[in-house]
Amino acid sequence: MEREPLLISACLLGIGCRYDGGGQYRPEAAALLARYELVPVCPELLGGLPVPRPPAEIKGGRVVTAAGVDVTDAFRLGAERALELARRRGARRALLKDGSPSCGCTRVHDGEFSGRLVPGRGLAAALLTGGGIEAISEDGIGRLLEAAE
Ligand code: SF4
Repeated sequence: MEREPLLISACLLGIGCRYDGGGQYRPEAAALLARYELVPVCPELLGGLPVPRPPAEIKGGRVVTAAGVDVTDAFRLGAERALELARRRGARRALLKDGSPSCGCTRVHDGEFSGRLVPGRGLAAALLTGGGIEAISEDGIGRLLEAAE
């Protein structure tokens, strides 16, 4: 049976692409392999940002680091490249790490580096959605697994 291509935040598979060089491994994500052709993506790396890098948050429609460096262009480029990759691979859905200024689907940090999360979407999640790709928060892994049974 041909597996459905599914874009997935690379950090959910344990790849150390987060700003601090860590991953965010979710063991359930690996179980998706039985049904889906996983396409790992890290929009921030696709945008040319290094590992490690200063954490950044969305503030006033821009993405800035705590030191006030504006990294919006790199985030936009990464989002565009993630959408391009999804289209090239024929993915209609993306499972994304919530809370991230790129991948956040339902919540992002508040822009004050306070550790507080507020409702919102990251740049890649928003661009993917606008491009017709269903952006699913990591909380939806169970739903994807059930659908695969
Ligand atoms: S941009 Fe997305 S894939 Fe990359 S580290 Fe952040 S949450 Fe993970």
